[in-house]
Amino acid sequence: MCEIEFDDDSACDKLSERDHVARVPHRCSSCGAMIHPGERYRALFLTSVDGPAHEKICPACLPDLEAFNRAHGVWVTPSSFDVLLEQCIEDEPDSRPRWEPVLEGIRQRNRIARGVPR
Ligand SMILES: [Zn+2]
Ligand SMILES: [Zn+2]
Repeated sequence: MCEIEFDDDSACDKLSERDHVARVPHRCSSCGAMIHPGERYRALFLTSVDGPAHEKICPACLPDLEAFNRAHGVWVTPSSFDVLLEQCIEDEPDSRPRWEPVLEGIRQRNRIARGVPR
């Protein structure tokens, strides 16, 4: 287990969470992928140092985010998930096989979302 410190920017209090079906397009707060109308996503209402915020998580990120939260015993803001994954891998090389594919998946979806060729 890594020893990264979850500061006030990355950890949050979860006020509520709900699963929705998108009626209008949204973007995943974690990977930036488009959530198209008709697709499921999870809406989180949370507070961190930046104040209350609504974040949305696509189905691809959700199980990874939940696993990361469980493994570290915190709730992280979805928008800082990729940075925290980097820190975790850097801090504890043993965690690389577990989290590197997750980070790669997020980067991959983000590249696609931005239309950047691989
Ligand atoms: Zn996502
Ligand atoms: Zn870790």
